[in-house]
Amino acid sequence: MPGRWTIGVDMGGSKLLAGAVDAELSVHHRAQRPLLGLDQASLLDVAVDAVEEVRALAEAEVSAVGFGIPCLIDQRSGRAVVAVNLPLADIIFGEVMAERLGLPVLVDNDANLAALAEHRAGAAAGCSEVVMLTIGTGIGGGLILGGKLYRGAIGAGAELGHTVIDLDGPRCQGHCPNRGCLEAMASGTALAREAVRVASERPDSGLARALADGLELVGPLVTELAYDGDGAAIEVLELIGRRLGAGVSSFVNTFNPQMVVIGGGVMAAGELLLEPARAEVAARALPPSRDEVRIVTAAFGVEAGMVGAAALAADGAVR
Ligand SMILES: [Zn+2]
Repeated sequence: MPGRWTIGVDMGGSKLLAGAVDAELSVHHRAQRPLLGLDQASLLDVAVDAVEEVRALAEAEVSAVGFGIPCLIDQRSGRAVVAVNLPLADIIFGEVMAERLGLPVLVDNDANLAALAEHRAGAAAGCSEVVMLTIGTGIGGGLILGGKLYRGAIGAGAELGHTVIDLDGPRCQGHCPNRGCLEAMASGTALAREAVRVASERPDSGLARALADGLELVGPLVTELAYDGDGAAIEVLELIGRRLGAGVSSFVNTFNPQMVVIGGGVMAAGELLLEPARAEVAARALPPSRDEVRIVTAAFGVEAGMVGAAALAADGAVR
């Protein structure tokens, strides 16, 4: 297999995904690890273990490792400042991991890297202005502006999930002091909360029956019920999709992107979320931006962050 490979690692709020990736950004080997309930020391151990697993399987020499972490990273120092949904704080993550792995390590925000992957070889290939959202436990944001990843002054920019869409909305998650953020209103966490509310309002629905059976109304289950035609589950996804569209309308007005790419686990719901989101953008955003923009799912799906991390490592390794 020609060319040098890299390893990309996406550390989400609940799980880690690592992949050995070739120079064309094709993923050859994957490793997954659950991350819930770990402290910082065991989180680092799990990450090292997953990297070593895919490195051992790679058919070519691995030149560098890229990490996407759901975290504000001070690009001046490499210090992970604060992670909303992971036990990482005040650690120079890249340096620590480079020492443990014996390889160059590059680190960026996970949603920034999803944007990089989709721009490099995915849904937004060839676009100069791209808005990326990753919807999972939280909502990550990434921006490609003028064909380049936009990070802000010290690398803390593009936190699009913390855009307020409801002044008096619910408290946001983790360390965010705000309320009514897009993340608080349209993330997988918000979806689960709304599903419980709708289930209590509609006792005859599939949603209510699932809750009564002791099932947790998380994104995948709500999506499955919606695909099976349960009206209450469809209603929940429509609500989340409309809120998503309200946020996207602001991003369309602000950045005039050619493409808005939406990834993350919650996008398993696909058009059930995107249709109401597009309708909201058509009703709320300004012309001509709203008429030019395309709103699509991530081509790399839930692997966008991992592939972007590998692309970051490849960029860094040839520098
Ligand atoms: Zn927030």
